[in-house]
Amino acid sequence: ETIGQTLARTTAAFGDRLALVDAPARRQWTYTEFRRDVLALAAGLLRLGVAAGDRVGLWSPNRAEWVLTQYATAEIGAILVNLNPAYRQHELEYALIQSGSSVVFAAERYKDSDYAGMLDAARPQAPELGTVVLFESPEWADANREASADELDAVAARAATLTADDAINIQYTSGTTGFPKGATLTHRNIGNNGYLVGELLNYSEADAICIPVPFYHCFGMVMGNLAATSHGAAMVIPAPTFDPEATLAAVAEYGCTSLYGVPTMFIAELALLDAGADHDLSTLRTGVMAGSPCPESVMRQVVDRMHMSEVSICYGMTETSPVSTQTRVDDTLELRVTTVGRVGPHLEISVVDPMTGEILPRGTTGEFCTRGYSVMQGYWNDPEKTAEALRHAPGDADGQPWMRTGDLAVMDPNGYVRITGRIKDMVIRGGENIYPREIEEFLYTHPDILDAQVIGVPDTTYGEELMAWIRMRDGALELTAEDVRAFATGKIARHKIPRYVHVVKEFPMTVTGKVRKVQMREEAVEILG
Ligand code: ATP
Ligand code: MG
Repeated sequence: ETIGQTLARTTAAFGDRLALVDAPARRQWTYTEFRRDVLALAAGLLRLGVAAGDRVGLWSPNRAEWVLTQYATAEIGAILVNLNPAYRQHELEYALIQSGSSVVFAAERYKDSDYAGMLDAARPQAPELGTVVLFESPEWADANREASADELDAVAARAATLTADDAINIQYTSGTTGFPKGATLTHRNIGNNGYLVGELLNYSEADAICIPVPFYHCFGMVMGNLAATSHGAAMVIPAPTFDPEATLAAVAEYGCTSLYGVPTMFIAELALLDAGADHDLSTLRTGVMAGSPCPESVMRQVVDRMHMSEVSICYGMTETSPVSTQTRVDDTLELRVTTVGRVGPHLEISVVDPMTGEILPRGTTGEFCTRGYSVMQGYWNDPEKTAEALRHAPGDADGQPWMRTGDLAVMDPNGYVRITGRIKDMVIRGGENIYPREIEEFLYTHPDILDAQVIGVPDTTYGEELMAWIRMRDGALELTAEDVRAFATGKIARHKIPRYVHVVKEFPMTVTGKVRKVQMREEAVEILG
């Protein structure tokens, strides 16, 4: 089934139900209205001459226009290129050139970024770039004007030529460990992933999902939008970019049953509750926490204080549409706070020796791998990186290749997976492998610490030494390395106690809410001289 076919089915079943709410714009659509507007914009894309397989860039923070463009491009088989709202000029040009985008839909501006001006400035470098449609312009209104019967027939005729294995999306990774890579994804990849994530959360037309995570990332557009539209649930946009106050307000106003976030977002929301915010969150039932390791204490508070008793932890990556493992709503809280759940339906996972690719016994830490319907076609126009990421198991040259995730994991006898870190973040101190995640979890148990991140820094004696970056709770005194040592002594092994402590207000982050340890390591080298 293509994304368009799924939307048609949902609309036939739940036409009168709410599909989309843009809270800041005070606008909303039922499924009937939403699909009507999607088809009108699809007709507009045909008028612009967009062919199946053409790349259409989309550059905007979260708003209803983003979602309409997502579904309209899918309807006519264009390949949507998700452009990160935080891109600066050279990153924008890289993505436009790398993807060969010929049409771009964009907000006119966002905050201090003049998107329109930046797109103009990109033209000499990106010769394939043709039409730019700004959401605030008459061209957008024209692309969305009511479609004639003939135009709708043309959209249907195009839709009939598409298959589920057509590429629908180039999604760039978060750029946490290096330069973003463009994963090429199909209807089958992301449509199924959204549907199955929603299945495991028991989504139905009774649900409304509050989506403060970026649409530009698969967390928003797949686990949010595609999960909603395949089950008849509503998508609620609380704000263009993450705003904890607006998020809690939207949950209360629209009676949301589900809320998404990376751990740092939930930390910010809990801090608002600490400060006395009294939004009615009693409609919440479930939600997803994903994207980076979730501290146990935060997870427990989300369940206890935000009513999200059925909250799920998902683990995955852009290259796998994204979700590979997920906790089930009836998993014990213990499992939901300590693991990323079990393999998703219709997928295979394994933990392998990063060097040889041999499958390791359960209980042994190794590289997490997955294969099945969710794995990308490859990195767009990058056969080398694709070959590095998608590799055959030893002795299985004819089988489907495995996606090598670069994440370290361990699987228990019942199939529950723990993510212990990224291979690139592992610290080797005096020959001993140290997983920063474990030390971060420990630091969270300190009452004055709001958030902690641990990195390795070069050291002449040990090769690497540990450095903790810490964000203090409001009003707490800054901790020193001695304070941390005193707190940790006797509780964690001596070689795991951070040698250096650096107190900060914020960590360097990607726009998807992930801590950029690469940047922290660079800054640390300067700090330590
Ligand atoms: P890049 O590949 O550009 O360096 P990235 O890997 O952060 O960036 P994404 O595809 O957005 O880009 O993120 C996938 C990664 O996020 C996973 O490989 C994993 O390291 C991390 N991750 C996702 N979910 C979880 C989770 N529940 N727990 C721990 N880590 C997670
Ligand atoms: Mg990655």
